[in-house]
Amino acid sequence: MSLDVHKIRNDFPILSQEVYKKPLVYFDNGATTQKPQIVIDEEIKVYSQENSNIHRGVHYLSEQLTQRYEDARKTVQSFINAEHNHEIVFTSGTTEAINLVAFSFGEQYVAEGDEIIVSTMEHHANIVPWQMLCDRKKAKLKIIPINDKGELLIDEYKKLISDKTKIVAVNHVSNVLGTVNDIKQIIDIAHKYDIPVLIDGAQSIQHEKVDVKEYDCDFFVFSGHKLYGPTGIGVLYGKEKWLNSIPPYKTGGEMIKKVSFEKTTFNELPFKFEAGTPNYTSAIGLAAAINYIDNIGLDNIALYEKELLDYATQKLGSIKGLNIIGTADNKVSVFSFDLENIHHYDAGMIIDKMGIAVRTGHHCAEPLMNRFNVEGTIRASFSFYNTKEEIDKLYDAILTVQQMFA
Ligand code: PLP
Repeated sequence: MSLDVHKIRNDFPILSQEVYKKPLVYFDNGATTQKPQIVIDEEIKVYSQENSNIHRGVHYLSEQLTQRYEDARKTVQSFINAEHNHEIVFTSGTTEAINLVAFSFGEQYVAEGDEIIVSTMEHHANIVPWQMLCDRKKAKLKIIPINDKGELLIDEYKKLISDKTKIVAVNHVSNVLGTVNDIKQIIDIAHKYDIPVLIDGAQSIQHEKVDVKEYDCDFFVFSGHKLYGPTGIGVLYGKEKWLNSIPPYKTGGEMIKKVSFEKTTFNELPFKFEAGTPNYTSAIGLAAAINYIDNIGLDNIALYEKELLDYATQKLGSIKGLNIIGTADNKVSVFSFDLENIHHYDAGMIIDKMGIAVRTGHHCAEPLMNRFNVEGTIRASFSFYNTKEEIDKLYDAILTVQQMFA
């Protein structure tokens, strides 16, 4: 292991606190990740020394901060290996980025009778915007099924594709199951029929190196707050040809070239999609988070997190009455389970009292819960700042829960 977890933990001030007089064990990284001091400092620096509205001023502060915002865009571009920096659109998060594509792509390319493909394991953020588009346009949503391990059935996916298919939208990694989907294969299949693909990378960007050029995806979206960055910032990557060919989503200041009461023309990429004052503070904070992650190295992170997942699967998986939900061959460090005869919510409450933060419920993936015939799960999602000792604490906590309900 080439990663000094105890040194790393010191970078995250929140991790050293106690809850209920017990050291905090934070296993809710799938919902949001904690922030290293360097990211917090960067935001403080913007507000205390650099703040000014960007893109509109000729004065010193505005010019400096505009540069920092555009540098943040270049940091994201290089992090995901995009061809052009204008293919990076800052949004408020994954949800807004998917809504943007569903609206703008939908306006341009989807008509009555057309079809859109998503999968059974999508987060609601990658279902509802497409569903609403289908309602508006009288189009149809088609669903890729999964097997009992929580893996996409690729042969069934191939059967869903037709000349009516306009776009495929699937996640890279499932927030519930941890399954890593073979997005290269999914994209290659769609591209044989000239169908574009949107990848929801909300749960992959923090776990493995993303390369949009290698995948050849048409859109890739993620949230800053799940990547150790600030809330309220996210990214839409889109190939230039698509972003140029679809209309704006939000309108207002900054996204225009010329406005008169007769006609408005739109700004060039990426500004056409960034109406209003952007969240420049968080964009700069996100760049700091990316630099921090790059310094540790995503390969090191992936290796260590795999060690944590294997340890948890072996140790927690040995508990009688604990069923793991999501046993795909290729998984990131997300561990979902239920406990026989114990409601996930009750279990989560008791585990919390022992200082351990896990998430319980449907995880914004109700169709997936239906597929597994459960109301909800308990999810422990591990980050590179977690330890095996913390997993041991979760093991003890689960045994206590079972004893209380015995
Ligand atoms: N997609 C997936 C797979 C997610 O896990 C999440 C959040 O948990 C989202 C989309 C939505 O992300 P956000 O709430 O940051 O927009």
